[in-house]
Amino acid sequence: MLLVNFSTDNGRHRLGVRRDSDVVDVAALAAERSARVPDTLLEVVRQDATAAVAALLADPVPEHVTHPADRVVLHAPYRPGKIIGVGLNYTEHVAESARALDTAQELPQRPVLFAKPATAVIGPEEAIEHNGHLTQQLDWECELAVVIGRTAKRVPAERALEHVFGYSVLNDISARDQRRGGLWLYSKGQDTYAPFGPGVRTADAIPEPHALELSLKVNGEVRQKSSTRYMLFRIPELIADISAGITLEPGDVIATGTPAGVGAGMSPQRWLWPGDVVEATVQHIGTLRNPVVDVR
Ligand code: MG
Repeated sequence: MLLVNFSTDNGRHRLGVRRDSDVVDVAALAAERSARVPDTLLEVVRQDATAAVAALLADPVPEHVTHPADRVVLHAPYRPGKIIGVGLNYTEHVAESARALDTAQELPQRPVLFAKPATAVIGPEEAIEHNGHLTQQLDWECELAVVIGRTAKRVPAERALEHVFGYSVLNDISARDQRRGGLWLYSKGQDTYAPFGPGVRTADAIPEPHALELSLKVNGEVRQKSSTRYMLFRIPELIADISAGITLEPGDVIATGTPAGVGAGMSPQRWLWPGDVVEATVQHIGTLRNPVVDVR
C-alpha cells in the first residue's frame, strides 16, 4: 500500500491509501464498516497497523469513500521526530563531492551521519525557500527515505529490516555555501530543506529496497539517475550502526544518501534558483515535486 496524508476542499488532513487512479479515505471507510484503524499516517506507523488498514481495503471499496487522485492535495506524510541523514553513501557521489566540495576522496569506513531538524520538512508541491542572503549554492539530493516502524535500539543488521515500516522519498536540499566548520546542520537543516513524500509505501510492498531506481529532474531535465543497489552502506547496516548509539523511534526517517548528479558536481556547477521546479522520484514510491521560491 501507498499511504498518503491528503486533504480535499475542506482542508482537513486525512489518512488515505493511494490506488491506481484514486485515493481511499480510510477514516470514512472505517466509519462505514465500524472498524477501528488509526486516522493518521503517523499513528499507523506507531501502532504497526498496516495489516488493519489492508484488511479494510480487502473488500470492494464503495466509490463514495474515494476521491479521484487528481482532486486531492497531498501533504508531507507527517513530521518525523528525527531525520538522520547519511552522507557520501554512493561511490560516484563520494568522487564528485571530493572533486567539487572539500570532502575526502576515500570511501568512508563507517556511515557518515548528520541530522536534519523536523522543522525542515515540507510536503509535495510546497515551496523550497531560496534565500539569496544565505545561499548562492542551493543544491538537490534525491534519496530513498526509510521510515522506522518498531523502536530500534542496538539492533543487529540481521534483524534490522524488522524495524522498517516502509519507504518514502526525501530530497536532501543543501546550501553548499553554508557548511560551517565542516558541519552540515545549517547547510542541510534550514526550513523547507527536507521535502518528504508523496506517501509512504509499506515495507511489504518493497521486498528489495536495494533495487529501486532513483532519479531527479530540474525543470524537466534529468540530473540524477541511479539505483539504490549502489548504496555503500545498505539499510540493515545503517540501522545497526545508528541504533548502536541512538534509539530510532517509530516514524523516524533515515535519508539513505544520494547518488551522483548533484549540482555541485556538475561542470560548470548548477544551482537551484527561484522559479525552478525539482522532481525527485523513487521507483514504486512516486515523485516528489517542489517549486523553488524567493524568500528574501
Ligand atoms: Mg544527502
